[in-house]
Amino acid sequence: MTITLDLPSIALGKPAASSGRDLRVLPLVCKLCHTTYPGTASATCEECLGPLEPVYPAGRALPSAAQIGARSPSLWRYREWLPFEGTPVHSLDSGFTPLLESPSLARLLRVARVWVKNDAVSHPSLSFKDRVVATALNAAHALGLDTVGCASTGNLANAVAAQAARAGLPAWIFIPHDLEPAKVVGTLVYHPHLVRVRGNYDDVNRLCSQVADRFGWGLVNINLRGYYGEGSKTMAFEIAEQLGWRLPSAVVAPMAGGSLLTKLEKGFREFAEAGLVSGQAPRLYGTQAQGCAPIVNLVKRGGEAVEPVIPRTIARSLAIGNPADGRFAARAIRDTGGWVAGVSDEDLLTGIRLLAESTGVFTETAGGVTVAGALALAEAGRFRSDDEVVLCITGNGLKTADALEGTLPAAPIINPKIRELEALHGRDL
Ligand SMILES: [Zn+2]
Repeated sequence: MTITLDLPSIALGKPAASSGRDLRVLPLVCKLCHTTYPGTASATCEECLGPLEPVYPAGRALPSAAQIGARSPSLWRYREWLPFEGTPVHSLDSGFTPLLESPSLARLLRVARVWVKNDAVSHPSLSFKDRVVATALNAAHALGLDTVGCASTGNLANAVAAQAARAGLPAWIFIPHDLEPAKVVGTLVYHPHLVRVRGNYDDVNRLCSQVADRFGWGLVNINLRGYYGEGSKTMAFEIAEQLGWRLPSAVVAPMAGGSLLTKLEKGFREFAEAGLVSGQAPRLYGTQAQGCAPIVNLVKRGGEAVEPVIPRTIARSLAIGNPADGRFAARAIRDTGGWVAGVSDEDLLTGIRLLAESTGVFTETAGGVTVAGALALAEAGRFRSDDEVVLCITGNGLKTADALEGTLPAAPIINPKIRELEALHGRDL
């Protein structure tokens, strides 16, 4: 018997028109001048050019810890804190990645306990960008936008391509021309329209700002940014729930555009306001590569304005010289009593190996920046001996495996003979 699989109809299948018809985005408010707008595909205030954020209905019913705990293990278990009314339709299984304890790292950092929040195994594209794309694609659906896209340093390209393919949405994805091969392959395999732009991320981002207006597309981190960013809060929600509904004392996260740090602060604050956790907000620590450290520089220098830099680092996923949320990330770090660390490319490679050898997690260059940054912060006396520290690992090492070339010991080759193994055994490999 022959079974014929009708591939084209599967590949092009769109969600049934009846599903998600009730999905609406929440209205928006300017973070700086507080002007309000109805829900729309715009992320910039017309009055002051400030960033727009969703407004949640005051007095809305919130679930208890037990109710959340009974829901399916995805980021939608926190749906009351995500910017929608109605039922989401896309990417219903993203989020809820493991939080694993690392006694070895706790010894190295000389703190009480360390956990790794492991978004290197995020579903479906192995980085924390799956969270923000899950919310952005639902915003595109609610706003009736049938083409999506992004400006990306790599991980976002992977996440948009994968999730748009599954949703049956055409995707236009813009990246710097010289991105790591694994990130290009990990985007192209989903068959989006991938455009490599001569220039760095900041050049790509400028082009995309014009594209969103002209073509009426939903570019997830441009005109849908207000809805997109809220997905990052779920990393904070999961950390609190997975620790048994309590807060760590310190969280270390990498910074590119700076959004993750601001959303971690917001997420922990919202859970405290809802009475789901109590106690002091975690001190937030931000890390960058020294070759692209505009937010680290801002925190160390003081003031409000980011001074853009030209990125020069192998941590490409963090190589944003003019970070959109830099000033807000700096504020979250200062307000929570945290600090920053900039690490060299050599140190970040050591950080990758250290996390793998100590904890069994293979992270990309950005995760190496987080681990090396945490070590630098410990060296500088920024942690207390009773601290409980969470390291946010945001991407998978297979995406930047080339970066480790030449840094790992060579593996010996032998003939399939026991005496050749005996000769090797006992030698220090
Ligand atoms: Zn404004």
